[in-house]
Amino acid sequence: MFRIGFGNDIHRLVSGRPLILGGVEIPAEKGAAGHSDADVLLHAVTDAILGALALGDIGSHFSDQDTRWKDARSEIFLAEAVRMMKEKGFGVENIDSTISLEKPKLRPFIAAMRENLARSLMIEVEYVSVKAKTGEGLDAIGEDRAIKAEVVVLLKKNDF
Ligand code: MG
Repeated sequence: MFRIGFGNDIHRLVSGRPLILGGVEIPAEKGAAGHSDADVLLHAVTDAILGALALGDIGSHFSDQDTRWKDARSEIFLAEAVRMMKEKGFGVENIDSTISLEKPKLRPFIAAMRENLARSLMIEVEYVSVKAKTGEGLDAIGEDRAIKAEVVVLLKKNDF
């Protein structure tokens, strides 16, 4: 039995914040604004898993009004989604993701992001895809005002 899930996330880019993607701190002029560490990739992955299981979304489990999650590492949110997934008897078959960001170039950090995700999802890195693209100078991404992540995940019931 398979389940497919989709997740996306967007955050404003501002000066004076670290840029954290897939748990990796990226040297950059701007970082993502947000209540937690604002890791758009981990937020989108968390939403994709919750979505595959029809368990709501990241905001319904981890409110941005809750002071517990102020500056929280987003690995906490993903770990909880993985725990709920395991509880329902599912595992991740594979995951594909795209980060949209005008700068800096993310290529040097992709391997580390894939490894972090593989560890969190308890799968081999060959089943984890992280891609990056720019906004071609268009819209909020292209104008270096926002960062976005989009994710699809396929879950499989363990006894299938
Ligand atoms: Mg978010």
